[in-house]
Amino acid sequence: TPLLEVRDLVQRYTLPRENLFKPAAQVHALNGVTAQVSAGKSLGVVGESGSGKSTFARLVMALERPSSGSVSLMGRDLNQMRSDELRRARRDFQMVFQDPYGSLDPRQTIARIVAEPLTALGRIDRAALRERVAAVLRQVGLRDADMDKFPHEFSGGQRQRIAIARALITQPKLIVADEPVSALDVSVQAQVLNLMQDLQDQFGLSYILISHDLAVVDLLCDEIAVMYLGRIVEQGRPEDLFARG
Ligand code: ADP
Ligand code: ADP
Repeated sequence: TPLLEVRDLVQRYTLPRENLFKPAAQVHALNGVTAQVSAGKSLGVVGESGSGKSTFARLVMALERPSSGSVSLMGRDLNQMRSDELRRARRDFQMVFQDPYGSLDPRQTIARIVAEPLTALGRIDRAALRERVAAVLRQVGLRDADMDKFPHEFSGGQRQRIAIARALITQPKLIVADEPVSALDVSVQAQVLNLMQDLQDQFGLSYILISHDLAVVDLLCDEIAVMYLGRIVEQGRPEDLFARG
């Protein structure tokens, strides 16, 4: 079974009515998306703004329920899981957001931010937790001592490393990264992408990498899906898609 299988995914949003007499308008954010990701492989999702990329990411992460269709992780439909099963399944898939400034709580220490996906799963011995946080910080190129600092003490690229460390803390199989480098300077983008590639090689991690930048997905992904108006309009290996221009 594939690591992740998405079938006929449809998501409609009802917009607020302008007034009582107008029918509520609907946005079709996803119009039947089917895709799969094998263990250790990565899928790039590209497409213009509004094409449905973030909606796809939110559904894969079970942050929303789809209007119809299914998302299965290792053969199990997320929408069929009880909430405690879903909580445990979340160990295996984590998300990294675009904005390393907005997504790290400025009032929390790095140790707390990085540990959160693990502490959310249950009680853990404090010493073991700090050891685990130190280990993932080292994996992303930061130092043990960084765990007692706060987000504002780090650069944009370092904050994105912290966000990746946070995702790694549960030893996930899949990381969904929504525009993970687009807020960074180009030279820093390359460093973060190289880190993501190293982690992929080292742990057999899979990514769903959402980006408006083809060069970014080309580097990390075995397969690219091009989205347009809530559909995948083209899918294939990067070399095949690019060869056809
Ligand atoms: P992308 O990530 O490619 O920019 P999105 O998934 O954010 O695309 O959006 C796809 C479409 O769905 C857009 O028209 C967007 O305005 C709409 N949309 C997304 N989320 C919501 C929502 N929660 N409520 C209403 N419309 C939404
Ligand atoms: P995320 O936090 O996953 O990035 P968004 O920033 O797209 O989600 O959405 C934040 C909130 O705004 C959500 O509660 C969503 O319902 C709403 N929203 C997002 N896009 C639209 C839209 N195009 N029209 C109406 N509401 C939206």
